[in-house]
Amino acid sequence: MPDAARTTPELFDKVVNLCKRRGFVFPSAEIYGGFRSTYDYGPVGVLLLRNVKEAWWRSMVQLRHDVVGLDASILSPPAVWEASGHLASFTDPLVDCRNCRERFRLDKLDDPDVCPNCGAKESFTEARQFNLMFKTHAGPVENEGAVAYLRPETAQGMFINFKNVLETSRKKPPFGIAQIGKSFRNEITPGNFVFRTREFEQMEMEFFVPPAESQQWYEYWCQERYRWYTDLGIAEEQLRLRPHDDDELSHYSSGTSDVEFLFPWGWDELEGIANRGDFDLTAHAKHSGEKLEYFDQAAGERYVPHVIEPAAGATRTAMAFLMAAYDEEEVEREGQGKGESRVVLRLHPRIAPYKVAVLPLSKNEKLVPVSREVLGTLQPLFMCDYDETQAIGRRYRRQDELGTPYCVTVDFETLEDRAVTVRNRDSMVQERVALADLAAYLTEKLV
Ligand code: ATP
Repeated sequence: MPDAARTTPELFDKVVNLCKRRGFVFPSAEIYGGFRSTYDYGPVGVLLLRNVKEAWWRSMVQLRHDVVGLDASILSPPAVWEASGHLASFTDPLVDCRNCRERFRLDKLDDPDVCPNCGAKESFTEARQFNLMFKTHAGPVENEGAVAYLRPETAQGMFINFKNVLETSRKKPPFGIAQIGKSFRNEITPGNFVFRTREFEQMEMEFFVPPAESQQWYEYWCQERYRWYTDLGIAEEQLRLRPHDDDELSHYSSGTSDVEFLFPWGWDELEGIANRGDFDLTAHAKHSGEKLEYFDQAAGERYVPHVIEPAAGATRTAMAFLMAAYDEEEVEREGQGKGESRVVLRLHPRIAPYKVAVLPLSKNEKLVPVSREVLGTLQPLFMCDYDETQAIGRRYRRQDELGTPYCVTVDFETLEDRAVTVRNRDSMVQERVALADLAAYLTEKLV
């Protein structure tokens, strides 16, 4: 697909359509008319999202010796958010248009004097600071003492467990705590499909370092995180690392860069990497009365570690992978030689929902048992799809639209030669592979 087509509204519509049609993402509570920008991940969407999170965990935890995991609670008491500063300042500026009554986030408007909905000029009310946290009550009594918040980020779970992890994990700075999980923000203007929703998933890591090393680690994590996206197949032309201007920086941050992706509507954030100094640990130490510091025995000194935080959105990133992978091309109709256009998701195999699809050429009673046998050998190794109805060409197209890297076709020859046809998603080249070699053949290509 030409580069210019990647920034058109048509691409956005095509991907959103494909998501519904093929079972990636459904509007939530659809049979009741949907519910305010919430979405459900369908049979293939759930696999995609799991693969995104798994790829992150693999690179951030499994392949390192200096990062450990955590799964903290979503509900937490006001004290946490008082200390973190979220109660006082996790707000967005909200304006109402007096003409059409629509609400907007002032800092996201192209022109702060023109309503993008009705075009009215200078129709906005004064901006009000709107706190984005969801408030609820824990227990049966709805009084002030029972107030709890749904976390708006996973990060605080890592800070408030700093001491627990330090004491139990045998790690010392520089080391990190990583977490993947749901976060909730009462966004004023959710939108752009799953890009901005009120309920979403984050992948965050807090990396605790000796203060003198913070700049060096900040730069390291900016590069590492950028590379994670390109390693998983996002083209460099569609990805950039953008350092924040001084006026964008939070008061505690001495450096923040965003990894941005070229979405159909322009460059937008996938992840923020921030040098947060000692802000978080110091704030929680002060409010809780616990010492949140590290005693370096070798140097005989005690210090509050500084924190480098790469904070990414899992659901937003899954969407970026879909946008980046979407492609259309003219191809010969397999076996018939006529021109046809096909849609293919060129997803990295690690991200693709299914790695392999097993397809008996027909539902013939002789082919089905062998196909089930092939499926049975591959299933323990890879997430597989199995599909035995419709013409084979249409089944290939379906797998192309799901991004399945390999299709394995069982035909009548298989019964004679104990071999199958393996079709490559991107090149559409077909190869004959002996059943005895199939698992090794696919493992080499997929793992
Ligand atoms: P924005 O300025 O877009 O509201 P942010 O800078 O406040 O986002 P962070 O607090 O840095 O976002 O969150 C880290 C990551 O979590 C973001 O880069 C994004 O990928 C994801 N994220 C944040 N808010 C949402 C949301 N409402 N829906 C989906 N993903 C989100």
